[in-house]
Amino acid sequence: MSEYYVCTGCALLCDDIEVETENSKIKTVHAACRKGVARMKGCSDPLECTVDSENADIDFAIAKAAEILREAENPLIFGHGNSSSEAQKLSIGLAKKVGAYLDDTSSFCQGPVIEAILQDKLKTCTLDDIRHKADVIIFWGADPSNSHPRHLSRYSYFPRGKERQRGWEEDRTAICVDVRKSETAVICGDNRFYQIPMGGDAEFMDALLSALSSKVPKTSFGFDAKRILELANVLKKAKFGVICVGLGLIYSLEDLEPLFRLMDKLNEVSDFNLMPMVGQYNMRGFNHNLYEEAGYINRVKFNSETADAEHGPDFSVVEALRNKTVDAALVIGSDPLSSLPLSVSRYLAEIPLITIDPCRNLTSSKAKVTIPCALGGVESGGTAVRMDGVEVELKKILDTENLPDAEILRKITEAI
Ligand code: SF4
Repeated sequence: MSEYYVCTGCALLCDDIEVETENSKIKTVHAACRKGVARMKGCSDPLECTVDSENADIDFAIAKAAEILREAENPLIFGHGNSSSEAQKLSIGLAKKVGAYLDDTSSFCQGPVIEAILQDKLKTCTLDDIRHKADVIIFWGADPSNSHPRHLSRYSYFPRGKERQRGWEEDRTAICVDVRKSETAVICGDNRFYQIPMGGDAEFMDALLSALSSKVPKTSFGFDAKRILELANVLKKAKFGVICVGLGLIYSLEDLEPLFRLMDKLNEVSDFNLMPMVGQYNMRGFNHNLYEEAGYINRVKFNSETADAEHGPDFSVVEALRNKTVDAALVIGSDPLSSLPLSVSRYLAEIPLITIDPCRNLTSSKAKVTIPCALGGVESGGTAVRMDGVEVELKKILDTENLPDAEILRKITEAI
């Protein structure tokens, strides 16, 4: 034990993981949280290579997948959050070649925030900046104690940093704004927990904006004005503040305008940054790679003749399935049948469906072609982009018979 590996259990991509192996399996994982240990130990139910539910040779399955994509008029390629950047780039190339709709999970979660960061509309920082400098950390609609279990201990609240030598409590203030008392809210403490009603985030932001402008804050849900004024005072005194934006906030806002207004005001009176609490380990990588290639972060359709991309809500996975505008689908490292509303996702079972994944899931159970791939960061290497935009190199730990998803995508592209 001396080599450090990266955990791909979430977009924190913790890089201090040590493992012990036995009989070509990971026996013990050191330093990772429970979620990371589960991820690194691999699938309990590995995917098999099948065509029409019959076991198949990998070359036959790849040929069948290529045939489905070649024959489709409007194929959909979706997933990508659990794939290396190398695989994502090959997927973008494949989408161009077959004129596919191309989307990922950011389309219905952190996408707008990542887009605003890439367009320099929101001030951001790295996780290391938070560890070394942050004295005020707001978890807004985020519960990292569950979603990113080492966020508080490794980067945000508890650790000592260069400018935060005394660590938590004495040197840092953690605040939670949420609709329920999450585990993170419990850690922040009752006096630093601001419980708002469902959908009340925009109004609470505007009330906070008033308080930051020394006006009396008002909300239709009667939140104690004194507590909002106290919060504004803490934020004004921050030397280096950060808002960790979770899904609870994203789902509550109709658009990001209230967040832009609040961040502008906070940066008038103090120094505040925003951190998107990205879930899947390389979702942000997909956004970066597609942005670089096509100028958009998600929801595109490529023209196979010109390779130009059209972009808009109609090209999102949700609208494409709801409107039944796609006639075949390739799903990579994702389970939309579990994560999307059934009224939308059930259409996937009506069209020729290909899945590439290390593990079986509900979506793979409906697929015409299933191709098992190596588990990223364990059975295959590559690069990925952490939640803060920093590129991280993944090392392979174990050998496997399964090909990396990048290699499968390369072979499908060549076969078309
Ligand atoms: Fe892995 Fe995330 Fe846990 Fe870190 S916090 S060990 S990246 S699951």
